[in-house]
Amino acid sequence: AREWHLAARPQGWPVPTDFALVEAPVRIPGPGEILVRNAFLSVDPYMRGRMNDVKSYVPPFQLGEAMDGGAVGYVVASEAEGFAPGDAVLHGLGWREYATLDAGHAVKVDPAAAPLSAYLGVLGMTGLTAYAGLLAVGGLKEGDKVFVSGAAGAVGSMVGQIAKLKGASLVVGSAGSAEKVAKLVEEYGFDAAFNYKDAPVAEQLAKAAPDGIDLYFDNVGGDHLEAAIGALNVHGRAVLCGAIAQYNETAAPAAPRNLALAIGKRLRLEGLLVRDHAALQPQFVAEVAGWLASGELRHEETVVDGFERAADAFLDLLRGVNTGKMVVRLDA
Ligand code: NDP
Repeated sequence: AREWHLAARPQGWPVPTDFALVEAPVRIPGPGEILVRNAFLSVDPYMRGRMNDVKSYVPPFQLGEAMDGGAVGYVVASEAEGFAPGDAVLHGLGWREYATLDAGHAVKVDPAAAPLSAYLGVLGMTGLTAYAGLLAVGGLKEGDKVFVSGAAGAVGSMVGQIAKLKGASLVVGSAGSAEKVAKLVEEYGFDAAFNYKDAPVAEQLAKAAPDGIDLYFDNVGGDHLEAAIGALNVHGRAVLCGAIAQYNETAAPAAPRNLALAIGKRLRLEGLLVRDHAALQPQFVAEVAGWLASGELRHEETVVDGFERAADAFLDLLRGVNTGKMVVRLDA
């Protein structure tokens, strides 16, 4: 079976030759293990950080070895109690067609309750990031004016909609194309949205939120964070979720240059790591599944077909080709 290896550590923007599609034997499961045929692989911005050889909250990928990441698939052989062939599972050995793993590292999911790919997105890691980040870290209150960057992506599109569902008085989003901006307002119910490539973020944000913002959900960093610090009202909060504008930069960021404003405004800027919020999982699934069923929450996936296109899907994600969650569908 095939798996994707990291062939070289990207310098700046990754290129296709940083990745290699490699044939490798499928390991027969031992006691307590299962063999899974992957059906969908997740590609995520955080994977870019794992391509650098630096210490972080997740260890770096090793050169010449298979990468890993979120995946859903079907058990084809099991030496573990409670798992049988045909079971659908969510696990962490993506970037390969077949995965052999300790069953303790797999979670059974219900393909009847939601399409399998949803467990990588709206009902999975990116969904929980939005939910926990907005509610537990950001402490969203009714009437808050909210700004979210990366608003047409997997996390951002949910942040904006959940903010509206929970009573925000204004939700503004930014994204990188006119199509995405139109979709945010027309389909996802954002009050305003702008294309950050059209004009300076601070300028566009001031127009969209003339009375300032109370909560900023940061997926982008840099000038977006600087603009948000400028627009935040006294006692405003910023959830620092990601800084994708910087992931491929080789120099230190030029912005935010106005961090000292946080003092006078008594702002709270707080980092978010989704793995700290596993306790919210049952509440998250129940509430989001309800919104999906009622049609109050929309979600989109950008599905790339073919295992051999996984590296391209990752590169496209960094370029913003996706709307909503980017996933790779393997051949059935
Ligand atoms: P997305 O679905 O949002 O995909 C990434 C998007 O980033 C692209 O579609 C692109 O959209 C946008 N983008 C790329 N380059 C830039 C840039 N220079 N400036 C502004 N936008 C850019 O990915 P996710 O929803 O999975 O992740 C969103 C953020 O959340 C990331 O920063 C990620 O690292 C972070 N994250 C953090 C977690 C945590 O636990 N802290 C967990 C999960 C995600 P566009 O066309 O709009 O440019």
